[in-house]
Amino acid sequence: MSLNRRDFMKLGLGACLLPAIGYSRADTLVSEQMYVFGTLVGVDVLAADTEAARAAIADVSHTFSVQNRDWHAWKPGALGDLNRALAAGREHVVEPGLLSMLHEAREIAHASGGLYNPAIGSLVGLWGFHSDELPVGAPPDAAVVAQLAAAAPGMEDLVFKGNRVSSRNPHVQIDLGGHAKGVAIDLALDRLAQLGYGNALVNLGGNLAVSGDRGGRPWRIGVRHPQGSGALASLEISGRMAVVTSGTYERYRQSGDRRYPHIIDPRSGQPASHVVSATVLHRHAARADGPATALVVAGPEAWVDVARHMGLEDVMIVDDHGRVQLTPGMAARVQFVAQPASVKIVELA
Ligand code: ADP
Ligand code: MG
Repeated sequence: MSLNRRDFMKLGLGACLLPAIGYSRADTLVSEQMYVFGTLVGVDVLAADTEAARAAIADVSHTFSVQNRDWHAWKPGALGDLNRALAAGREHVVEPGLLSMLHEAREIAHASGGLYNPAIGSLVGLWGFHSDELPVGAPPDAAVVAQLAAAAPGMEDLVFKGNRVSSRNPHVQIDLGGHAKGVAIDLALDRLAQLGYGNALVNLGGNLAVSGDRGGRPWRIGVRHPQGSGALASLEISGRMAVVTSGTYERYRQSGDRRYPHIIDPRSGQPASHVVSATVLHRHAARADGPATALVVAGPEAWVDVARHMGLEDVMIVDDHGRVQLTPGMAARVQFVAQPASVKIVELA
């Protein structure tokens, strides 16, 4: 594993931490970084005993590695086993953790009107995103893409009988890339709280959540500029709160001077490119991750209805012209670090 400068930039911008002055408690900030889920992961906790805090972070870090294996869309593991069974038309017994993720992902997919659709694993693979490396070269054959989109694999095709899962549609392949990080973040904060660390920040490649505060002050975090380097905005959060961003700027297929992003519109099978980033603020990261992906797919106009339907409150969207739209709640929290092309406040209620 090697971390490049870009990785550190990414993490740094996920958590632009306040300077370490003015603590109202004796605790210090203990920070560790690791590379999991194909991204740089950072965990920060406020702790009196640094060694004990490092052990707690090692505990969650170990869990991340297990989750990464179990929930991986294309490598061997629990989800890989399920996908092989579904492709062969077989029923498969799924372990409880993955089973509850499938149920939750199905709910989110339904609420998003199918724009978040983790059953399109075959399409994601067809575009070359089931690889550790970024794909390059010509896009897949348009007819093959259209055919697969027309087969309309969806979460409603899954049949659950207790812990046994099968699919009515042979084209269903599950890809939890838009949900798993959210779940992992929430579980990590739960585990840290259980171990006595109620003031923590968990950052998975810019998707993050916090608990408590940072020694009497809120955690200050940054939202990356989707079209440049550095931060677009910063905001302060405390208590249990997640800020999750889905964007088209990080993983894409490069073909000549065209970029095909990794978020796919399930209706056409083509990459979504008019919303370049969607940031969702929610108490639970797992309830923000899939919805953020859905808002990218929805596009710069339809996102409003989709966000409303998903019951979201605090959202910020950046389109491919650098124009920002955000809800009043989000507007009250963010401070722009870079000047957007325009800013429009949109009521969801
Ligand atoms: P990131 O992983 O960068 O945070 P997302 O959370 O939006 O981005 O997840 C994108 C991943 O989700 C893709 O890499 C792919 O594996 C999967 N995916 C792509 N399009 C969709 C979609 N419409 N619905 C559900 N999952 C998708
Ligand atoms: Mg995400």
